[in-house]
Amino acid sequence: MLRKPIGILGGTFDPIHYGHLRPALELLEALALAEIRFIPCRIPAHRATPAITPDQRLKLVRLATADQAGFVVDERELCRPGRSYMVDTLTSLREELGDTPLCLIIGVDAFRELHTWHRWQDLSELSHLIVMQRPGASSKTLPPVLEAFVAAHLSQDAMALRQQPAGRLLFQAVTQLDISATQIRALLASGQSPRYLLPEAVLAYIRDRAMYQPLTPSTPATL
Ligand code: ATP
Repeated sequence: MLRKPIGILGGTFDPIHYGHLRPALELLEALALAEIRFIPCRIPAHRATPAITPDQRLKLVRLATADQAGFVVDERELCRPGRSYMVDTLTSLREELGDTPLCLIIGVDAFRELHTWHRWQDLSELSHLIVMQRPGASSKTLPPVLEAFVAAHLSQDAMALRQQPAGRLLFQAVTQLDISATQIRALLASGQSPRYLLPEAVLAYIRDRAMYQPLTPSTPATL
């Protein structure tokens, strides 16, 4: 088999920012992916309910990705009731896409928690895993279950992603952007500007709809 893999970037995207977008573009090109699917979760499995509605987060993802060829927005988690589990998402993608290689993309911070994900051991039967570096991620040694996972699945070669539909693990260098949605929400909530951390169209929409407002009235940040 030699088929271009499809990248899967799931997230809360509360809101989407350049720390998602630039690494995604780099992976699209470096791994010659057919496309990257941005999949906003409905109810995140591992964190508090987001500050804005799922439809609002979806709208921001659409605005951020609209003009990039190869970036695709996939609404399947928003359409599915209950918590959003990646194993369910990959199962439904696998049913649709047959044996096309799938590459689940996660930051190294998320990878360190992988063994806490619902049915995490099944993920590698459904997809490859691409782990991208992220500034500030802990450098502590991995838990033994994840060390064993790395030993079983690690690959150094991007070509291996095309040769089978799932099962490989690749650590991939990306430009290190120390940006988080938490930081952006905090800036907005304190009346400061997050400009240049996320696309202008996304920030304009956030401002128009008064999302992530300061908790107490203060001087509004300027665009
Ligand atoms: P929050 O600060 O609210 O926790 P976040 O900025 O981590 O959010 P998510 O939507 O939770 O954003 O992230 C989705 C995926 O993108 C995760 O796998 C995460 O590790 C990865 N990611 C987010 N920001 C970066 C970044 N700056 N560099 C590399 N990967 C990132």
